[in-house]
Amino acid sequence: MRRVLLLLLLLAPALTAATPPIDAERLIGHIQFLASDDLKGRGDGSPELERAADYIAKQFNDIGLTPGGVGGSWFEPFELVAGLTVGSGNSLVVSDKTQSVRLTLGSSYYPLSTVPNESPTTPSEQIEKLPLVFAGYGLSAPDVRYDDYEGVDVSGKAVLIFSHEPQENDPNSPLNGNRPMPQTTVYKKAEAALNHGARLLLVVGDPTHARDQGLYHSFDISPDVDEAGLPVLRVRREEIQPLLDKWSLDGLARQIDRDLRPRSRPLKDATVDYSEFLARNRRTVRNVVGVLRGSDPVRAREAIVIGAHYDHVGLGGRLSMTPERAGEIHNGADDNASGTASVIEIARAAIADRTRFPRTLIFVAFAGEERGLLGSAYYVRSPAPVPITSTVAMVNLDMVGRSRGAVDVSGLDKGSLKDDLMTAARDVGGLEIKQEGPGAGRSDDSSFIDAHVPAINFFTGFHADYHRPTDDWEKIDKAGTARIAALALEFAARLASDSSLRALTSSNSTPP
Ligand SMILES: [Zn+2]
Ligand SMILES: [Zn+2]
Repeated sequence: MRRVLLLLLLLAPALTAATPPIDAERLIGHIQFLASDDLKGRGDGSPELERAADYIAKQFNDIGLTPGGVGGSWFEPFELVAGLTVGSGNSLVVSDKTQSVRLTLGSSYYPLSTVPNESPTTPSEQIEKLPLVFAGYGLSAPDVRYDDYEGVDVSGKAVLIFSHEPQENDPNSPLNGNRPMPQTTVYKKAEAALNHGARLLLVVGDPTHARDQGLYHSFDISPDVDEAGLPVLRVRREEIQPLLDKWSLDGLARQIDRDLRPRSRPLKDATVDYSEFLARNRRTVRNVVGVLRGSDPVRAREAIVIGAHYDHVGLGGRLSMTPERAGEIHNGADDNASGTASVIEIARAAIADRTRFPRTLIFVAFAGEERGLLGSAYYVRSPAPVPITSTVAMVNLDMVGRSRGAVDVSGLDKGSLKDDLMTAARDVGGLEIKQEGPGAGRSDDSSFIDAHVPAINFFTGFHADYHRPTDDWEKIDKAGTARIAALALEFAARLASDSSLRALTSSNSTPP
């Protein structure tokens, strides 16, 4: 989950906290298992994620839920792309008239983006003698009247750019001071190159950084890319320094730094040869779905979904906040063993008190969240135990393990959920509810909102261990997590009987 926090203090209940009907020891037990080194960070496409799925299904079964997956199973399988298979024959050569620099995949260059390809034995790209153009920092930023692509034709050519941006340490720079511009991310630079018709993009560390910040080692351990529409290759500076010197590119960068006047130009007699044998890994992963049929035969046709993603970023790599620590287990205790454990224990408590739930509860542990909310997106467009059009609300828990007496709630503006949540919070007690304002980021609740189902997300905030190998179970506030699970349970009980909530199929529904 990535989000911009805009917190608004809503309510600090002064009531004495009731004992939550959620067992904190059971909860931490699930977290200990899911976030153990044994499960290797539950990366999408890994066998360990499948072990986690089996564990969750067993819990759902032992608790007494009904399977809600495909063909009477607990699982809803779907396919995603996770990582790359590296074939042989990859090569990159940058030349001018008199000199060729041959680079080696992994040690002296690696892809940030590739051409989609299904087999490592057939080339996804094979380019010979492509003319090379220098395009400064690769920025197209009309809002601050800076455009490295102005007056230079890169169409059908290879483009060489520097990383970062000019004047990056100058607080008075018109390019967003000493903070990076939105256009400075490598993916925005790839987009700019693509929009100008470039065929290939080479990125070299800019001359103000003494140490090359490329993650060559990380690619070797877990090859993984985005698909940005053209090959984007990070090239090790020291390997092509002789050519940079010949073309005086470091000097041009310094001049741009001085006056912010782009100095893009074709590089005389410079060409690139590139062969790419990289195939994406297609893997099947599984949502785990358990059902508690509503206690009222009529209202049971409508459902509340209670969900949390159980995947994490495995051994790090592209999705890590410390990609230089690729290969280390990113345990993901808070993100999101905490939410997954909560869903299991909410299910157990709900079953013990099922008359409080006239509507059906559907418990879902999602896969594929870390790769773009894929599990929840799959759920909302696939047949479900209760169709999405009869789902009246969704409750998501993503990172609820660091409560310390408070929880952030987003999505209360997305329907008539706020009153239900506030009365639930008053009954449970002991939790300060903070509401995230508009513009907050995305977790699996977004997939439901996109499908016109009101959805909220519980979240206890980012921290220094987020998407790092240090997100460990020892740092979980288990009593706080249990209290949030108790709140989600109380909230779900209100949603399950709130007659002001309407499914999309109801006669008086008004889809937003
Ligand atoms: Zn995450
Ligand atoms: Zn998450």
